Amino acid sequence: MLIEVLNQIGQRNRFVLTSHARPDGDAIGSALACCQVLRLLGKQADVLMHDPVPRIYQPLPFADRVVQTDRINGNYEAAIILECDSIQRTRLEGLENQFLINIDHHTSGRQFAQVNWIDPQAIATAEMVYRLAREVGVKISPEIATCLYTALMTDTGSFMFKGTNERTFALARVLALAGADPFQCARNIYFAHSTEKMRLLGAALSNLHREGPLAWIWVTRDQMEHSHAKEEDCEGIVNYALSIQDVEVAAFFRELPDGRYRVSLRSKGKLNVADIAERFGGGGHECASGCSMDGPLSVAVARMLALIRPPAPAE
Ligand code: 5GP
Repeated sequence: MLIEVLNQIGQRNRFVLTSHARPDGDAIGSALACCQVLRLLGKQADVLMHDPVPRIYQPLPFADRVVQTDRINGNYEAAIILECDSIQRTRLEGLENQFLINIDHHTSGRQFAQVNWIDPQAIATAEMVYRLAREVGVKISPEIATCLYTALMTDTGSFMFKGTNERTFALARVLALAGADPFQCARNIYFAHSTEKMRLLGAALSNLHREGPLAWIWVTRDQMEHSHAKEEDCEGIVNYALSIQDVEVAAFFRELPDGRYRVSLRSKGKLNVADIAERFGGGGHECASGCSMDGPLSVAVARMLALIRPPAPAE
């Protein structure tokens, strides 16, 4: 399918690139890197996103050129949607009329575009963008390497998540050789939290609940407002619940302005949480997924626990 992607790119000159709303490191890093690859091929390419670039990703090369918008305006010949399983998840209007190229590594990836390159074996969408660049013979610049390395580092949970293997480290090595600075990339992400995020983390951990191999935490709208936290400050909070010894599955519930809940699920590998998130209309990976659920909180938690609780041993 990579060949078909290259074929379609070869026939066109003006591209718009985007990813899912509330972009994470792989969404931003892959889109920025792919945009640079296209420009080096002599194409016109813009990155458009529904939401602003989160603060920790703003130091990435060309992040300041990302256009924040609700709809695609511009005379494009194709839209490349990275790391995203549907048009709806981009929250951008106007994509329906575009020729769509979908590049994604999620197990829950869907064939929603004219060309769908979905490779769940890829550890991050960044790995697929790297393969695309190599195939077209674009030299990986330090800027492309920095975007791809940051995407790889964040999507593998700093090279710790299940699925991280020798290919991941081989790619990290290539990107470091091409000019990504692992120390600086890590520092921009992991030593750059906002004070508000730390206050939110405190609030979330004060709501920590534990039941055998399960741990769950939540934050209410009031707690979000009280800590002056933004949506992006919630990224990674679920991992603190998963970090507890003997916890196999962790969930983080965040109350939304409309009273629904955004749920982040994480697993150490025994339970496939992509399957669980898909039951509620979400998706993701075996060990990291997300979905939205109706409130109130007690009902959302009870419905989620009913699915993630291990079966009782037979009498
Ligand atoms: P997070 O919990 O960090 O928001 O998301 C974890 C993983 O699940 C990411 O790979 C993310 O793209 C995916 N994910 C989160 N929410 C959704 C959703 O509503 N739909 C789908 N398809 N994937 C999601």
